[in-house]
Amino acid sequence: MTARPLARGFSTVAFQAALMVTMTCTVVGVAAADEPQPLRRVRPQSARIADAIAQGVERSATFRRLVESIDATDGLVFVAEGKCQHGTRACLLMSVVIAGSDRILRIFIDPRRAPGCELVEVIGHELQHAVEVLSNAAIRSGIQMYRFFDRVKNNGDVKRFETAAARQTSLSVAREACRRS
Ligand SMILES: [Zn+2]
Repeated sequence: MTARPLARGFSTVAFQAALMVTMTCTVVGVAAADEPQPLRRVRPQSARIADAIAQGVERSATFRRLVESIDATDGLVFVAEGKCQHGTRACLLMSVVIAGSDRILRIFIDPRRAPGCELVEVIGHELQHAVEVLSNAAIRSGIQMYRFFDRVKNNGDVKRFETAAARQTSLSVAREACRRS
């Protein structure tokens, strides 16, 4: 009669041990599977832009911080080659698309007007504007984005908004990534 409780006790311990091993393996397995491809929230839409972003991340601490800041938000920032209005060589479109739990922003860059390392500088500048929007959870539409920049701009222009932080980002990225000041 004493054999049963002993056996039951042993098998419970063995079961718990097996469960712990299984859970540990599962956790390790998930971490290992996630490591090679963390979710990148800055999405280049051409090889040329992907190269420029890779250069920025490699050479410039300022650029790297921008990408990390965006990775920590609910934003997805698509960076594509394209033309902007008002004669600018790059722009953040006044548009926020809500897709599930993500806010999608779009940046256009004209690479012909940002040759060489200037492309890295210009992308960094626009990523700063993306951070300005994404750090504000209340901005969920193009109109809200327009009103936000109309409030925080410091250039007095009604068609082209500019912020001091983005101007400073251009200078920092140029110095760090392009060795210019
Ligand atoms: Zn700007």
